[in-house]
Amino acid sequence: MKAPTHTCPVCGFLKLHEEPRTALGSPSYEICPACGYQFGVSDDDDEISYEEWREDWVARGMEWTSKGIAKPRGWNPKKLLP
Ligand SMILES: [Zn+2]
Repeated sequence: MKAPTHTCPVCGFLKLHEEPRTALGSPSYEICPACGYQFGVSDDDDEISYEEWREDWVARGMEWTSKGIAKPRGWNPKKLLP
């Protein structure tokens, strides 16, 4: 069975390993490899909303952020944006 994946609410990346925030509100602390948003840090500590981060990321050209995780073949951020 394949592990379930989750969609990034900032950039629409489809393969986060964990739910960004559970129904009870606890953050995953996962960093989205596409847009670089870290749930529980970028929002809670840095107080940057999904929308603000998304605007900024789009303005910077929607580059793949992760150095450790390879960009998936065919990744098309324009099609994924929520
Ligand atoms: Zn993302």
